[in-house]
Amino acid sequence: MKNQVSRYVDDFMAGVIARNPAEPEFYQAVHEVVESLAPFIIENPVLMKNKILERMAEPERVIMFRVPWLDDRGEVQINRGFRVQMNSAIGPYKGGIRFHASVNLGILKFLAFEQVLKNSLTSLPMGGGKGGSDFNPKGKSDNEVMKFCQSFMTELQRHIGPNTDVPAGDIGVGGREVAYMYGQYKRLRNEFTGTLTGKGLDFGGSPLRPEATGYGTVYFAKEMLQTRNESFKGKTVAVSGSGNVAQYAVEKVLEMGGKVVTLSDSNGSIYDPEGITKEKLEYVMVLKNAIRGRIKEYAEKYPSAEFWENERPWKAKCDVALPCATQNELNGDDALKLVENGCICVAEGANMPSTPEAVKVFLERKILFGPGKAANAGGVAVSGLEMSQNSMRLQWTAQEVDEKLQSIMKNIHDACVKNGKSADGFVNYVNGANISGFTKVANAMLAQGLV
Ligand code: NAP
Repeated sequence: MKNQVSRYVDDFMAGVIARNPAEPEFYQAVHEVVESLAPFIIENPVLMKNKILERMAEPERVIMFRVPWLDDRGEVQINRGFRVQMNSAIGPYKGGIRFHASVNLGILKFLAFEQVLKNSLTSLPMGGGKGGSDFNPKGKSDNEVMKFCQSFMTELQRHIGPNTDVPAGDIGVGGREVAYMYGQYKRLRNEFTGTLTGKGLDFGGSPLRPEATGYGTVYFAKEMLQTRNESFKGKTVAVSGSGNVAQYAVEKVLEMGGKVVTLSDSNGSIYDPEGITKEKLEYVMVLKNAIRGRIKEYAEKYPSAEFWENERPWKAKCDVALPCATQNELNGDDALKLVENGCICVAEGANMPSTPEAVKVFLERKILFGPGKAANAGGVAVSGLEMSQNSMRLQWTAQEVDEKLQSIMKNIHDACVKNGKSADGFVNYVNGANISGFTKVANAMLAQGLV
């Protein structure tokens, strides 16, 4: 069986690499899933015969387009826009839009591929997709961001709709960008539907959508900790990033009695051994969301903190680590450092923040490791709830949404335990998430025939 599994994985990956040149992040995401699922697929010949996983690794559709816009100096700028419509077996395509200079097709394919399994895990009827642009919002005026969003949506609106494809935010796309895109969508299509999620509360947004990914990650970590009779109370927590996911992860950890000692951005990390209090978090929110400043300024304001230039937070001693910035931000050496410093739990708020070497360390050392597609599914889950509210023309209260979010995160955790528990009782949440997410999509694809 072992040989058969490694042959299956090698052949599968050779095919993926040949068909998708120069897309390392996509290979990484697919490889992790194929490795997890290979024994399951080999034992189920119907999946093998129908090439379900092979079909899942091929997007149903990829749209690439030019995004021309005029900057504040009157100069023409040109960016590239993408939407990867990966899989619609269980619902309309659903997944965020990323604006970051590093965006390329391979990164969006990795994100879209993971999104399919993540959305399935939420148990809501959503297929998977992802989109974005290599537009860099840093240093751009509001006017420039608006012009870019309008141009981006002028093309994208042809390909999306409330029953077709429902984008949301991601890195570089928050409430401001979603609102500009929604305004342009509405204007061009002459309809008020729930085609984007993450909208403002005054025009169809769901309470708790901004908080959902960060809160959900902490709810997931709480469930993992509970399996070892642990909780956040009194725990020291290292968080990376300082954007949407990181901010609300910190807020929820504080509520649960933990102490957060780090945050970061692409220039470095801050380490505050006295802890990031509620007041300090409020400062970070204003700094990052309104002033669009750098995390370095935190260390200038609070003398208890140090700034670690161009360094990630993982050398800080902590009990729990929540990587909430970006892909591959935690490598094998970082993982070793974390475990040696006593870290017992890692929950990924970001998508694929841990490299394969880091994941190997966490699994070998048998600490609690929650992969992004399970741990950060709270964001898309509340996006799914926003779609439901839009269809019903209703708005639930924050409390109602929070209860649903907590119950979804608990169900995802239970599904991971069910499918990821090994004979010695250790839960491999990577296998658990992949198998649980895959099964529903595979069954739907089998039922729908060769499409
Ligand atoms: P965000 O608000 O734009 O914040 C991103 C944070 O990560 C910023 O602090 C940013 O620093 C940092 N960052 C981005 N690229 C980086 C890089 N190459 N190196 C170091 N730091 C970097 O985005 P977000 O919504 O919080 O998303 C963070 C992660 O969560 C992403 O992996 C995203 O895919 C994932 N996620 C988000 C949601 C959601 O609902 N938003 C849902 C599920 C998963 P700078 O300011 O220096 O760029």
